[in-house]
Amino acid sequence: NASTPLLSVRDLQVHYGPALALSGVSLDVPEKSALAVLGANGAGKSTLARALSGLVPPTAGRVEFAGRDITAAAPDAVRRSGLVHLPEGRGVFPGLTVQENLRMALTPAGAERGGAIDRAFTIFPVLGERRRQRAGTLSGGEQQMLSLARALMITPRLVIADELSLGLAPRLVDVVFEGLERARAAGVAIIMIEQFAHRALEFADRCVVLQRGSVAWSGPASGAGEEVLRHYLGEA
Ligand code: ATP
Repeated sequence: NASTPLLSVRDLQVHYGPALALSGVSLDVPEKSALAVLGANGAGKSTLARALSGLVPPTAGRVEFAGRDITAAAPDAVRRSGLVHLPEGRGVFPGLTVQENLRMALTPAGAERGGAIDRAFTIFPVLGERRRQRAGTLSGGEQQMLSLARALMITPRLVIADELSLGLAPRLVDVVFEGLERARAAGVAIIMIEQFAHRALEFADRCVVLQRGSVAWSGPASGAGEEVLRHYLGEA
């Protein structure tokens, strides 16, 4: 059904023990679109990402992805259905080489298609140069690139990029954004959680601002002007 969004979240609620971290969060992500999720520290951005990807179980609400209810699905099942969560700087196997990390991310079908690893090296030349280096010895930024490259191996339908640019040198931030642009051009939908609000808004179609675990503002990314940023994020 063309009018059904790829991801649909309704009244999502998450508790950590007795503490309420998300409440009443509803949002849609249409196929091939990009959503920026902004909010101050502790607003619930990473909690949203974890709840969508099955890492924390919601205490209420419903998450549908590609027409299936994934509200209580395990992380692995969510990933196999095409929703990939990239938590900052993680998800690589430190003892394996760059090339081995990429090979492991391929599904059997992906392996048959071939060329996927070479394509990753075209997008991220630095990974190609370091293909035989153990992932654990890469810099933080290089590990984030490898994590993104691994996600793109399985041609996901939706990538949640959680603060991928955190702590990166500006040049590497550009590389990460380029990688996400390419994924998007290939038809992958993206939820971008970003400290650089302006860049995220340039990238995204729509924007959701979280405040104390709830949606405080949502609208077109081009409509999230300085006033919205100042009011909810304390930024100019
Ligand atoms: P930041 O931008 O600082 O990373 P965030 O918007 O991603 O913040 P979350 O990490 O989702 O915020 O945290 C939302 C709230 O839930 C915070 O008040 C945080 O202290 C709390 N919280 C997060 N993880 C846990 C946990 N494992 N146990 C208890 N409370 C938690």
